[in-house]
Amino acid sequence: MHLKELRRDVALANRIAHAAGLVTAFGHISARIPGAPETFLFPTRASPALADKSRLLILDLDGNRHAGDGEPNTEFWIHARIYAARPDVQAVVHVHSPACVALGQIGQALLPLHNHGALFAAGVPLYEPIGLIRTRELGDQVAARLGPRRAMFLRGHGANVAEVDVRRATMVACFLEEAAALQLRALAATGGRMDALRVFAPDENARLQEQLDAGGPMNRAWEYYAALADGRVAPPRQS
Ligand SMILES: [Zn+2]
Repeated sequence: MHLKELRRDVALANRIAHAAGLVTAFGHISARIPGAPETFLFPTRASPALADKSRLLILDLDGNRHAGDGEPNTEFWIHARIYAARPDVQAVVHVHSPACVALGQIGQALLPLHNHGALFAAGVPLYEPIGLIRTRELGDQVAARLGPRRAMFLRGHGANVAEVDVRRATMVACFLEEAAALQLRALAATGGRMDALRVFAPDENARLQEQLDAGGPMNRAWEYYAALADGRVAPPRQS
């Protein structure tokens, strides 16, 4: 993908995070630059709803700014240090998604309860220390807690997703919030009884992951959320 298209996708991904209810004023999505893997595209200090493809910054893994005008969002260390720890990761999402915060704060592991939840069958670790990730050291701690997985919670704060491209990372962040919200809803219906939840079995998770990894559902989800962010479809009625 050319840099021009990547800029468009990164800006759109940030606006999608807002349209999907993962963020309000705070949060950010980045993408590693192909051909320059020590650098990544990152939005300036503003709500992701306001991300503009012509105003994205180029930062490196040590937090230096290489191009663009304006200050970066202050938690850029989350992105820089996950890219440093994970050469396989091409995009990072950081969101303050409410169901992820609630689930983390009741101390429950995310369970695979619906189709897209199967993506998280390997587990979603919780980073315990509270507060913003504004130093290299904290960024390294977050990356270490994430380990080889695709998603993590930050207690009382939000969630991070690390994936192979920016579209997929953004959709996985939407699915993570969807999974957390469904689990909270199921727990409310069972009076908080974890043992009443019918969690997918390992072979069921494997089958569902295979379907999702085939690409079709991710592309369709991106198409939908892009239309939502651009105002071409109305938000769904809340059930
Ligand atoms: Zn944050």
